[in-house]
Amino acid sequence: MLLENRVAIITGGTKGMGKAMALKFAKEGADVVVTSRHLDEAQQVAKEIEKLGRGALGLKADISKSAEVNDMAAQTIKKFKKIDILVNNAGGVDVKGGDTTDATEADWDHILDVNLKGCFLCCMAVVPYMKKQRYGKIINLSSMGAVHPAVSVLHYHAAKAGVIGLTINLAFELAPQNIYCNCIVPGPIETPFWDSLQAPGPARDKFFAELCKKEVPLGRMGTPEDIAGPALFLASGLSDYVSGQTIYVAGGQPLNAQAATFLSAPK
Ligand code: NAP
Repeated sequence: MLLENRVAIITGGTKGMGKAMALKFAKEGADVVVTSRHLDEAQQVAKEIEKLGRGALGLKADISKSAEVNDMAAQTIKKFKKIDILVNNAGGVDVKGGDTTDATEADWDHILDVNLKGCFLCCMAVVPYMKKQRYGKIINLSSMGAVHPAVSVLHYHAAKAGVIGLTINLAFELAPQNIYCNCIVPGPIETPFWDSLQAPGPARDKFFAELCKKEVPLGRMGTPEDIAGPALFLASGLSDYVSGQTIYVAGGQPLNAQAATFLSAPK
């Protein structure tokens, strides 16, 4: 197993990619702390992990609130005595629009808080423990829109671009302490992330099919498991000479980003 005796925190581990990573890491031997804004959902995933024979903890922690994030780190240390892996996965866009016609200051503050400040706060809470043990693997989740936007969502894409910069700076600062930091850039992955844009159903399936045909060289939506594999690589000893990298897990994107037609996305 690749993560035997490791302790991982996965923010936003209750759904989508976060849940897939939580279960994958547990199957590879890690004890896993799963967080989200909903305690019951986090505890539910923790139970699934325990059924796999691993230690688990489900916590409520809104990543945009430093007190909750610090408590997340403290509770992990209390139960497992160390933190080896942090996956800054929680994030998303829960506001409408976001181009120059309709982006608001309030939306900017909210989206930056969740998608960039949250990542910073989690790193700040966890890194002191990693420094003490002289080991850590941090994995941040960005977005294709940060580097190749195909629809204008200013705040979200700016935040996710910031995540890449944060990754590089952390990797630079922390390498001498044997702490690694890398970034995954997912392409379109079928998860509840899309629900605020369009409810699941035939219209959404048609939209996804069109999107994949025009924008994704491999021609299909990604699955949460497609992200969990590369995340396992970055969390494990398989990547012990890799830090500060941005890895596209995007079905071959951005090979044909110029052909993007995402503007057809329903508003
Ligand atoms: P998802 O299915 O919507 O799951 C998001 C998770 O984050 C949930 O567990 C959610 O739980 C949690 N979360 C959201 N806001 C939070 C907050 N403020 N504090 C703590 N937890 C929070 O999303 P996903 O598709 O798996 O996306 C994972 C990451 O990849 C996100 O950062 C997303 O921006 C990024 N991404 C997604 C796609 C895609 O196509 N799906 C593409 C590019 C990048 P609660 O709601 O219970 O808090």
